[in-house]
Amino acid sequence: YAERGIPWTHGTINMNAVNAAGDVSSCTTTSGISWKVPGRVGDSPIIGAGEYTDNTVGAAGSTGRGESNIMVCGAFLAVEYMRQGLDPQSALIKVMERVIEHTEPRLLDDRGRPRFDLSFYALAKDGRYAGATAYEGGRFAVCDEKGPRLEDSGFLFKRSERPSRE
Ligand code: ASP
Repeated sequence: YAERGIPWTHGTINMNAVNAAGDVSSCTTTSGISWKVPGRVGDSPIIGAGEYTDNTVGAAGSTGRGESNIMVCGAFLAVEYMRQGLDPQSALIKVMERVIEHTEPRLLDDRGRPRFDLSFYALAKDGRYAGATAYEGGRFAVCDEKGPRLEDSGFLFKRSERPSRE
């Protein structure tokens, strides 16, 4: 949120790709977040949290509240769920559920829903992909043989269930 006239900003991008040979790669870049504690690292540069790739399975990454992701190693967990046979969408929803289970109560509303934003993205080696957020309304960019476009992320809660921000 804006403070002293300076807007609250953040700026992470996770990109996952599979090439024609079936090789998977992934990258997460970030500016971090405004008002962070000096020395804060966030999840983006932590392999297994903000990004993870296994060329036999796929790749995953995140944007949003890094502290909540680090606690579950979200990108690693998404790839592990895909390794166990889950499709990317189901894998990401399970990661989001795990995040909420591990979230400290002060960051949840009285119904146990998160008061923060966190998004996950995943790509399987066979080209299936997905995004997921806690609340309806997330979108992510895709580019394949059908061209570039935005697609809707999966979600746990309807937009109307989102708690108001403090
Ligand atoms: N994930 C980043 C962090 O926690 C913030 C962002 O997504 O912009 O540092």
